[in-house]
Amino acid sequence: MTDSPPTDLLVAGLGPAGRSLASRATAAGLTVTAVDARPDRGWTATYAAWADELPAWLPAEAVATHTQAPAAWTRRLHVVDRPYRVLDTVALQQCLRLDGARVVAARVRDVGADGVVLDDGRRLRARYVVDARGVPAEPHRAQQTAFGVIVDDAVAAPALEGRQAWFMDWRRDNGTAPGDVPSFLYAVPVGGGRTILEETCLVGRPALGLPELERRLRVRLAARGVDVHGGARTERVRFAVEGGPVAEGVLGVGARGGLMHPATGYAVATALATADAVVDAMCRGTDPRKVLWPARSRAVAGLRRLGLRVLLNLDADAATEFFEAFFALPVDRQRAYLSGREDAAGVAATMWQLFRELPSSQRRTILRSLR
Ligand SMILES: Cc1cc2nc3c(=O)[nH]c(=O)nc-3n(C[C@H](O)[C@H](O)[C@H](O)COP(=O)(O)OP(=O)(O)OC[C@H]3O[C@@H](n4cnc5c(N)ncnc54)[C@H](O)[C@@H]3O)c2cc1C
Repeated sequence: MTDSPPTDLLVAGLGPAGRSLASRATAAGLTVTAVDARPDRGWTATYAAWADELPAWLPAEAVATHTQAPAAWTRRLHVVDRPYRVLDTVALQQCLRLDGARVVAARVRDVGADGVVLDDGRRLRARYVVDARGVPAEPHRAQQTAFGVIVDDAVAAPALEGRQAWFMDWRRDNGTAPGDVPSFLYAVPVGGGRTILEETCLVGRPALGLPELERRLRVRLAARGVDVHGGARTERVRFAVEGGPVAEGVLGVGARGGLMHPATGYAVATALATADAVVDAMCRGTDPRKVLWPARSRAVAGLRRLGLRVLLNLDADAATEFFEAFFALPVDRQRAYLSGREDAAGVAATMWQLFRELPSSQRRTILRSLR
């Protein structure tokens, strides 16, 4: 049962990746159908990105806070000379307008090269089909977990110790022992006079549970003299960092398409930054998969998957050593590993330099994880 004529593009899923693509495609004049189980659901997560990852077309109001040089603490203080942005999630969602698109509120049952089948049996067709349904946080996939509180800047100040933001603070005043599964403090102003203080398990398979992260956060904040009252807003995080299956002939984007950085869990900036190239390929009638996945991007993804395997094997002590070496690298080296999808030589050079600078015990752990 087909209920309408085919459109140029059909996007299944309206999270940051699907909505970016649908919005940029309608702006470029393509006819778009966008399907989501809950298309009007307001985004609530705290999304952040490095400033240099965000596309120039993103309006200024989509950014909530600017941090010029976030800090990291490993065995010592590192100041990362690279501007960082927390997005205004509500403004971001609103600025990705869907006015010109046909939005369908329904669950997608099947996605194929020529269209989708909805749960109620309706079939929607399009010239290009994009799977942006995200990935369920199932136990077999590596995940990131975190528990955070959002408090007034003044309340958070003792945790920040005069810094603008902690991108990662690996100190063990969270009550952990050297051999424990590691977690770090992420502490960033989110706008409106508020700061998020989040205990984060970077990746795990399984990842640390939220009750344990909450316990660690409370131990850490108590140690730093941060007084969080019972009514503070909380943020609970659990998502898969590995991509999901995408059907033959379909373009996967965002988390589903394997465009999430597997070692950091960041995907929003990549979704925003890659949307126009994909739309451009569709406008020209060419295969957008070739634009998104040239050989160099496949190589970058492969190298980062190796990085994920290493991270999954680090205990608390080893994680501190690993990130000590990482943040000692020049910012351009850090950027090559953390951002972008095309600089395979830069990613490989960063990994090699990091490997050489780690103590031999760490190198053995890395080699074991790669076997
Ligand atoms: C609290 C929190 C904080 C985060 N912070 C950051 C951050 O700072 N930076 C960053 O880059 N990332 C961050 N992330 C990760 C972030 O969630 C992902 O990067 C992002 O959501 C991936 O976007 P996506 O569009 O690919 O998938 P999703 O956001 O998962 O969107 C998938 C969409 O598809 C819809 N859908 C799913 N199945 C179906 C179906 N069968 N039929 C119809 N619709 C369907 C869903 O309703 C949803 O709208 C954070 C995550 C959380 C939870």
